[in-house]
Amino acid sequence: MSHLFEHNGADGKGYSQPEPIISTDNLQIPSSLTRKNLPRWPRISEPEMVRHYTWLSTRNFGIDTGFYPLGSCTMKHNPRINEVIAQLPGIADIHPLQPDHQIQGTLAIFHEMQEMLGICAGMDAVTLQPVAGAQGEFTAIRCIQEYFRSRGELQRTKVIVPDSAHGTNPASAAMAGFEIVEIPSQEDGRIDLSALRAVVGDDTAAMMITNPSTLGVFEPEIAEAAAIVHAAGGQMYYDGANFNAILGLTSPGLMGFDAVHYNLHKTFSQPHGGGGPGSGPIGVKSHLAEYLPGPIVKRRPILSEDRLTAVNQEWWYHWQQPANSIGKVQQWHGNSGAVVRSWAFYRRYGKDLKTMSEHAVLNANYLRHKIMEEAEKSGVSHLFNDGAPADVVKHEFTLSFAAMKEEKGIGAMDIAKGLLDKGYMAPTVYFPLIVPECMMIEPTETESKEVLDEFAEKFVEVLHEDAEVLHNAPVTTNVRRVDEVYAARNLTLAYPFDE
Ligand SMILES: *Cc1c(COP(=O)(O)O)cnc(C)c1O
Repeated sequence: MSHLFEHNGADGKGYSQPEPIISTDNLQIPSSLTRKNLPRWPRISEPEMVRHYTWLSTRNFGIDTGFYPLGSCTMKHNPRINEVIAQLPGIADIHPLQPDHQIQGTLAIFHEMQEMLGICAGMDAVTLQPVAGAQGEFTAIRCIQEYFRSRGELQRTKVIVPDSAHGTNPASAAMAGFEIVEIPSQEDGRIDLSALRAVVGDDTAAMMITNPSTLGVFEPEIAEAAAIVHAAGGQMYYDGANFNAILGLTSPGLMGFDAVHYNLHKTFSQPHGGGGPGSGPIGVKSHLAEYLPGPIVKRRPILSEDRLTAVNQEWWYHWQQPANSIGKVQQWHGNSGAVVRSWAFYRRYGKDLKTMSEHAVLNANYLRHKIMEEAEKSGVSHLFNDGAPADVVKHEFTLSFAAMKEEKGIGAMDIAKGLLDKGYMAPTVYFPLIVPECMMIEPTETESKEVLDEFAEKFVEVLHEDAEVLHNAPVTTNVRRVDEVYAARNLTLAYPFDE
């Protein structure tokens, strides 16, 4: 079977269209703007095209295909009700320039999301505009920067980041023009308060950190860390990628943070990671609210002159620009479809979001225990080097293959590739950087005990494969082991036409 990618763009007869009813001959398009040659896109028939895309879809692996324990990415099931709601015509077919009175429903959804996210994180104001966690980081750091500029504290040029941080944290701060100060973590991956004390000062703008940390370990000393940074006049930024561990149980606001981003596509379900657009709203404490990018949805009680769209409408919703906004970071209102899907997800849980987080933590702890038990039974120990007492591991956990690499030449990458041959998406590898030969597993709350048990069993089978087999893996996938360096350095995105 040949595929669209192999079509050479020749002017074939793949399709037929009726002659246009209105002649296009005298449209008076300047000849400089018309094509001299036909575009060289593949000319194939509809069935050939349908086959092409169906074929492509079978070569992919997603959360709908199998277990996807990609640490830090929160690959939970995306409930289909989200899609149904996002595709309602009154939601999907509106235009961002429509007047407020025609889009009261969508504005109400946005408003509720702002409120809900603010409450969950213990923040006072929320903007839904950023479309990724990383963009949320940059946006919040810019708000913090404006805050200091307005106070004349221009000497605050440094952002403190622990060495366990996600790479986007230092990248976002550096993009905003800050100098990055990296502090080492303790042996067990937790924050080192003496290292923090040693670097804070009147040049500190902010500290960026996530809790639970990227090792999935809760930082019990986070309030102390916040107090240290605040005493030096700095701001605390919460990387909300690990929000799935703490919703309804605690909040960044309670921990002492001033600003936070949410990864709606992680915590509040959304096809992501090449599967769809993300959304990275930010929340801030009141002193940062005037700098948020707008517009933001506000509401006021109904007045007699309002043109009501719903009979029992209690509030009038409208857009508003924050007073000293840093400006827009995204066109229109961000990825509004992603916001609506996450709203549908949250509405399904309501006040029960806490149970969601409890189950995410329970699943991670269960799987960690199960893998440890099965591995030890079969003679493999030393996988767990996070040194963490079991009760502080939250929604994900790390393993280290350093000992196995030394002993048998099998590293985290080899195990990950071996898992592909068992029909699983590989967990995250080599992150966080502070764990040698790291593998990071996040099962999420949407997996059953049966799935976790089977994964643990298959995982231990992989641990006992021959090094040679694993170095060769995967053998069952559409694409075998790729040369990542080559793929990154020599990325080919152009259509392969014959010249
Ligand atoms: C995913 C993630 C980010 C970045 O979020 P994106 O939405 O991918 O831009 C930041 N920090 C951590 C810990 C993450 O897991």
